Amino acid sequence: MNKETSGEKIRCDACPVMCFIADGKSGACDRYANHSGDLIRLDALTIIQSSDQAEDQKLVPFLGEQDGQQAWNGDIIKGDRPFITAVGAGTTYPDYKPAPFIASQTVDGVDMVTVVTEGIFSYCGVKIKIDTDRHIGHERDVVRVDGEPIGHVMTSEYGSKMLSLGGVEHLTGGTKKEGRVTCDSLMRLCNREAVTLLIGEEEHATEVIVEAGQPPIINGIRENLMRVGCGSATIGMFPMQWIGHVDDVVVVDDHITGVLSEHETGKQLNVPPTGIKILGRRSTAGRYFQVAEPGLGWGGTDIDDPLKILGPFNSKIAWEGLRLLMVSTTGEQYAYYELDASLTPQAKPIPEKLKASADLIAENCEPSVCSVLFMGGAGGSLRAGVTENPVRLTRSVKAALANVTCGGAETYVWPGGGITVMVDVMNMPTQSFGYVPTPALVAPIEFTLRVSDYAALGGHVDRITAIEDIDQDKVRTVKKNSGVRDPLERSYYGWAKDRGWQ
Ligand code: SF4
Repeated sequence: MNKETSGEKIRCDACPVMCFIADGKSGACDRYANHSGDLIRLDALTIIQSSDQAEDQKLVPFLGEQDGQQAWNGDIIKGDRPFITAVGAGTTYPDYKPAPFIASQTVDGVDMVTVVTEGIFSYCGVKIKIDTDRHIGHERDVVRVDGEPIGHVMTSEYGSKMLSLGGVEHLTGGTKKEGRVTCDSLMRLCNREAVTLLIGEEEHATEVIVEAGQPPIINGIRENLMRVGCGSATIGMFPMQWIGHVDDVVVVDDHITGVLSEHETGKQLNVPPTGIKILGRRSTAGRYFQVAEPGLGWGGTDIDDPLKILGPFNSKIAWEGLRLLMVSTTGEQYAYYELDASLTPQAKPIPEKLKASADLIAENCEPSVCSVLFMGGAGGSLRAGVTENPVRLTRSVKAALANVTCGGAETYVWPGGGITVMVDVMNMPTQSFGYVPTPALVAPIEFTLRVSDYAALGGHVDRITAIEDIDQDKVRTVKKNSGVRDPLERSYYGWAKDRGWQ
């Protein structure tokens, strides 16, 4: 890194902001500081190691951690080899300079190199999956933080709502405040902090608190369960719990409400018609759309009284004493009725068998969780830091010669052009993300490949350092996580397959 001084200050050239930093102070992003005239990266370089070896390593406290206690609650490497991540590695700028660390090691007789850098991502965002039935906003509703638009609601998925936050339009295409709030929100979400989102316009806005790995809190209520399936699927899954104990069952769902007696399931199990009428748009037999508005009530609808979705029973078919169970897709809400002489449902205490069926639905629901996936595109500065011929790196990734990881965590590389990656932030070390005030997010990214392939693509081979030669006093060592794949695992590399090593 070049050092340029201005009086007592030195210039940081790790990003386009080019801060002049006084002695004892840090730059605008709090990642770099002037330490007695030396420009230093404030967070330690993070290396992932198997647990046995990690215990022998000197543990360097990460920024914000107390008494050397490691905040990493995952681990990565299978086997004893270390893996150098880009967390705390620093950034080189402008693009032509080699990445901060280019570390080699021999793995099963093959010379491998890992090129690491903390990438500055102007083109990035997060995709959030929120496991809930509850209505949090319509598709395309704007998501705001501190009054600033930072993203929008995407499609609903099976049992989950999806948000797309960030992106270059919010980071740089709006006002200065919009960019700053977007960048700060993305960084906090990626660092697994709780962020309060307001979704939709003021008169019908929903407040959702999102934290990676935790249940969402929707309008002050902590979500508990993810639905077992849509109403129709629930009818198909649990009929044996109901046959003989009730005459009809309605599973209330904002998307597809199911009715046992009309459903194919009921037909195949000889459930007779009951004359029930559902106030919704019939899709196919026993499956109804739009029985109510979306909301925070039963099955993601806005209703608290399930009878609101029933019309009058057909008097030619229904009978006095007909037994009806109504239940939500999470089994959290249920009610039992019997028809009186006028064929009007009257609430009754729920029989034990039917209560047990609602409990079984709830038991089959998974816990509701927020998942935060960072998504970013590796652009010019990143790729040029790896090789003098950036497009060859892209081709190497596509040809399975180079494995891309973020903080040692497996990524999904999108098909098509460029290197656009997605990664679950829960698989990354804590505090992996930072920012620069341009504004842009700083995220770790590593490229691992054979030294021979690295040389062939025009890599900065003269900058390769053996991993054991990296100054261990300045390293934070974190332990492996058996749930995350080893970035050096052979199955990532096309050449290993050719050797029959799978
Ligand atoms: S914002 Fe951070 S990385 Fe950028 S120049 Fe300032 S101190 Fe360096």
